[in-house]
Amino acid sequence: MDRILFTAEKISEVLGQSWVGSPVEGVENVQIDSRKCGRGTLFVPLKGERTDGHLYLKDIAGAGTKLSLVDHKWYSENRGLVEELVSQRDMAFLPVAGTLEAMQQLAVYHMSLFPDLTVVGITGSNGKTTTKEILGAILSEFAETVVNEGNLNSDIGLPLSVFRVEERHEIAVFEMGMNREGEMDLLASIVKPDYAVITNIGTAHIGMLGSRDAIAQAKKQIFSCFDGKQTAIIPADDSYSDFLAEGIKGRVVFYGPEVSGPVRLVSGFSIEGCDLEIEGRPCHFSLPGEHNLANVRAAVAAAVEMGVDSALIARGIDSMKPLFGRGELIKGDITVLRDCYNANPDSTEQSLKLLRFWENRSVAVLGDMLELGDASREEHRRIGGIAAESGAEALFLFGKEMEEAFEAVRTSGYPGYSFWTIQYEELEAAVKEYVKKGDLVLLKGSRGVALERLTPLLT
Ligand code: ATP
Ligand code: MG
Repeated sequence: MDRILFTAEKISEVLGQSWVGSPVEGVENVQIDSRKCGRGTLFVPLKGERTDGHLYLKDIAGAGTKLSLVDHKWYSENRGLVEELVSQRDMAFLPVAGTLEAMQQLAVYHMSLFPDLTVVGITGSNGKTTTKEILGAILSEFAETVVNEGNLNSDIGLPLSVFRVEERHEIAVFEMGMNREGEMDLLASIVKPDYAVITNIGTAHIGMLGSRDAIAQAKKQIFSCFDGKQTAIIPADDSYSDFLAEGIKGRVVFYGPEVSGPVRLVSGFSIEGCDLEIEGRPCHFSLPGEHNLANVRAAVAAAVEMGVDSALIARGIDSMKPLFGRGELIKGDITVLRDCYNANPDSTEQSLKLLRFWENRSVAVLGDMLELGDASREEHRRIGGIAAESGAEALFLFGKEMEEAFEAVRTSGYPGYSFWTIQYEELEAAVKEYVKKGDLVLLKGSRGVALERLTPLLT
């Protein structure tokens, strides 16, 4: 049996509500996805855009799950089903005003059990997951460390990540993402970071937040629980650097290529990463590009502050492997640079810079950059101009928003081959016909575009 995360009584006490039915067991894990439920699960049904978790209560009963939160309003309208599941399936339900808020409250309670845990929070427009993984790789050489799984970084993902923390852990590293005002405050109040790292301020989610100023302001809320004892780790070369550092209640540490620190670039950049020295200790970092080196600098700045010595830092960097869709190089007759986990103007610009490191022909397949709101047309147009200058022999542009980029490419005098479509099948056929042995193919687009679909065609 797994550890007991919460007893049913404790959940009732923390949330100030009573169970309907008699809980027969404690909680070993918390799930929001009915497909992941089993014995020992507390199910938290959430209402999303596409579906409502409450619709799956019968399914989780079938999977052996005995405990679930339910929305109070839903409960009052579905008492019959609840009674049936209580009497026939030994289930118990805890009606609460909001299931998401209740899960967040449980996360706050869970964190309160570990007063000695050192907490690192990482936010920024780009590179959060990568920086989290680099820092996780370094810290796991140093102390019992837990990091959030994958990209679980939102007001939903962060509580789920918190439930991973166990007694044995000394350090927890959490990625903290947000796409609306007020979310970062909430996330900070859940994990209360001792060390808070900002990677950069860009334009991701500008559609929701309105401006870069608003984005900077929102990210800065990662420091909102500081009371003097914590440390802020801030990029020195970001145009918002001074703004971010202003008024912080705690220590402020800057990092960046211009700031003296332990990271020294030994080789030039290549598509396969770069060689580094950490206070004279050599290591290889296997993610490409200057932007990923910025992520290393952020992670190292945090590690140094936490007292990790350079040998362990170098070993951690050496062990770091590319993550799905973030600077992944898949070698073959055709080499694929799979950078399509997500995309926004800043990260697409960075990806296009990588093409210069390839000696043979390079090809860029660019999908829509989503969530840009009113800025979308202008930003796609701008990226079209940058793509035209990137050195790519061909540009395949895919999606409605990319029409604007295509226009920019066509009017730029771009000498290479360019193609635009909104039909995936047409994209596939066109790419297939064009590419040949020795090419590098960059895949870059937002998550919703899922350009990794092209991988089997190319490898
Ligand atoms: P998300 O908001 O989806 O959680 P993230 O901030 O976690 O994204 P990563 O998943 O680490 O970011 O990286 C996603 C992409 O962002 C990479 O594939 C790369 O193209 C780009 N990227 C990574 N680090 C940086 C950086 N420091 N500056 C600019 N772009 C970056
Ligand atoms: Mg991420």
